[in-house]
Amino acid sequence: MPDIAAYWQNHIDGAWVDGGAGRIAVTDPATGETLAEQALADAADVDRAVQAARRVHLAGALRDMRALERGRMVQAMGRYLLEHADEIAEVLTLEQGKPLWESRGEVEGAALYFEYYGNQASTLEGRSIPLGAGYFDWTEHEPLGVSAQIIPWNFPLEMTARSLAPALATGNACVVKPPEMTPLSNAWFAHAAQAAGFPAGAVNIVCGYGAEAGAALAGHPQVNQIVFTGSVPTGVAIARAAAGNVVPCVLELGGKSAAIVHDDADLAAFENDIRWGIFFNAGQVCSAMSRVLVHESREAEMLERAETIAKSLSVGPGVERPDTGANMGALVSPAQRDRAAEMVARAEQHGARIVTGGRPLNRPGAFLEPTVLAGVTPDMEIAQEEVFGPVLSVMSFRDEAEAIEIANGTDYGLVGGVFTADLDRATRAARAIGAGQVFVNEWYAGGVETPFGGYGKSGYGREKGREALWNYVQTKNVAVRLRA
Ligand code: NAD
Repeated sequence: MPDIAAYWQNHIDGAWVDGGAGRIAVTDPATGETLAEQALADAADVDRAVQAARRVHLAGALRDMRALERGRMVQAMGRYLLEHADEIAEVLTLEQGKPLWESRGEVEGAALYFEYYGNQASTLEGRSIPLGAGYFDWTEHEPLGVSAQIIPWNFPLEMTARSLAPALATGNACVVKPPEMTPLSNAWFAHAAQAAGFPAGAVNIVCGYGAEAGAALAGHPQVNQIVFTGSVPTGVAIARAAAGNVVPCVLELGGKSAAIVHDDADLAAFENDIRWGIFFNAGQVCSAMSRVLVHESREAEMLERAETIAKSLSVGPGVERPDTGANMGALVSPAQRDRAAEMVARAEQHGARIVTGGRPLNRPGAFLEPTVLAGVTPDMEIAQEEVFGPVLSVMSFRDEAEAIEIANGTDYGLVGGVFTADLDRATRAARAIGAGQVFVNEWYAGGVETPFGGYGKSGYGREKGREALWNYVQTKNVAVRLRA
């Protein structure tokens, strides 16, 4: 049993509290053993958290502060995370399964959101509109009030930071609903807010079941804005709840994103894109490179390289993988592993060829071999549905038009990529791909500064970058009639 607290509470109005719905066991997916217990919020707990946030908002504690100072506090939260990176990373690895070095990277990634949005706080300026000598008119941006943030289990720290940092920077009070499978690491956001000097109630962390605490939060009449990151069916439920209360919501949903690899692509360099694009976080990444569309003339070489990369990864418990390297941890749960393995088996039945992988490891824990599938066709389930695991589907194409048609032939549209030495071809593809972000010659190019979000069933609204600031504010125009 690792040396972490046996019981973790929720954080409401500045206090650590039990949950009205009892407790849930949090499991280490690398061993299948119980790690700790987490308090589970019920609807009454959620209501208390929303009321606490609302009080902070109505008191003007954040809204009336100089933006520069608010920004400094947001930045201090990021520094707090970095100061506690080792302990946070260990807990994240134990609850989620990723290698320790990936968890450290996630803590650093989360801190970056606080650094970036802390800097942005004072840049959200209004403007004056000329209405002639008889008027003085200005437009300004006000925080919406209470921001509700519902978080998935794959990157619990980065996904929370991505919304929490801009929401606080723009002066909102927040209620975060962490995922029930990986809730523990979110506790540090409450500690960070306290250490940075935010008032009690500005950052509330309430873990509970999605259907209970999540639904209560999404449908709460005093929530003013919702950010949801997760699956499409839950996103639809959130959008309905938001519509019921006439509040805006941002939906960051799944993806089935494709890289188009042309005949002139640098395939040696592309090995790195395979490594990160589909095997980082064991493929549990919404913007994973889950499909590769390769020109038929390079397919054999590309498959050979993909096989080499997949086989080079040492798969095992994240805690035993402290150093950056060619390794991969467990999936988040046995259910997630089995779902991925079953999708691979069905793909094989429908005519795909397993180049490598496809089987659970013969040891305890939710491990799946890094997997590459060839001969996938666009109509197969594996080409249409998100696996959310370390499974790469490879398809070939004859010409540019066919590549774009396959790339755009799913319900999703989160990201896309094009790999070529031809700038014209890359630009044409970037314009034609139906996705919120297109990577040219490097999967995951970009950062916290670049806007991110989906087309189609990948959702709507944008997080990251300056675009995200607009999610958390409403616009007010003031027109003053001047006396002559
Ligand atoms: P999920 O939809 O099952 O759960 C996400 C969150 O919603 C959890 O906190 C859950 O408790 C909560 N929830 C569940 N039902 C709810 C309800 N009825 N009302 C309110 N809240 C509810 O998703 P998941 O399995 O945790 O995450 C995996 C999915 O998330 C994948 O599809 C992945 O692509 C997507 N994702 C998207 C992004 C992005 O930025 N676009 C990032 C990470 C993950």
